[in-house]
Amino acid sequence: MERRPLLAGNWKMHTTVAEAEELALAIAGTPIPADRDVMVAPPFTALAAVRRIVADSAVLLGAQNVCWEEKGAFTGEISPPMLKDLGCTLVIVGHSERRHVFGESDAMINRRATGALRHGLIPVLCIGETLAERESGQTFQVLELQLLGGLRGIPPAEAERMVIAYEPVWAIGTGKTASVDQAQEVHFFVRGLLAEMYEKNIATQIRILYGGSVNPENIDALMSQDDVDGALVGGAALKAESFRRIINYKR
Ligand code: PEP
Repeated sequence: MERRPLLAGNWKMHTTVAEAEELALAIAGTPIPADRDVMVAPPFTALAAVRRIVADSAVLLGAQNVCWEEKGAFTGEISPPMLKDLGCTLVIVGHSERRHVFGESDAMINRRATGALRHGLIPVLCIGETLAERESGQTFQVLELQLLGGLRGIPPAEAERMVIAYEPVWAIGTGKTASVDQAQEVHFFVRGLLAEMYEKNIATQIRILYGGSVNPENIDALMSQDDVDGALVGGAALKAESFRRIINYKR
């Protein structure tokens, strides 16, 4: 089965509402090749404004995190129904900044993913090793633990709707990209793990994105790899021109 590529922009804690509107207008006005999906994930504060702009386009709306609860005394959290109410269809969970800056554990990330799925949102589950872990030969072990922890209890029918993003921590926002061989090696490994956890035909359906300093210069080479099904893009998604080029990658 052909996996539909996904080019996803993570705007992180950037953009005022006016700035988000300007960026969203530029992206929504970009013709998107019919064979791929494009998502933008603005900060929560700009979701409503960006929704109004992308509503009539092919651009999908995503959020950067989600709580597992529907409502209640959870100060600072945003629930799955709230995101659905704003037109989100996808949500990033387990981003390395959530793990390393805010101390989110695999168990918490799993609850977030499970809560999202319960309400029909597609989780984009991020995994990735630090530089120290890579240099000490622990990459595959770390990724396996993150994947097993993040997907715990999620049945095959739900897992097949999910997106996995491999984002080596040492490549995020650093300008250092994993080589295409490093990316393909990990993506192949991750797909193998998914086949062990579920079944081969489920694993072949799950999209695995690469993230970490993706830019207009390296996107074509990354997308030429068999198991790279798209990109999760930070910095280069904040400039309409560079995100446009990424959307229009050529294999
Ligand atoms: C990210 O935000 O997930 C990311 C990969 O950032 P950058 O593209 O800036 O490295």
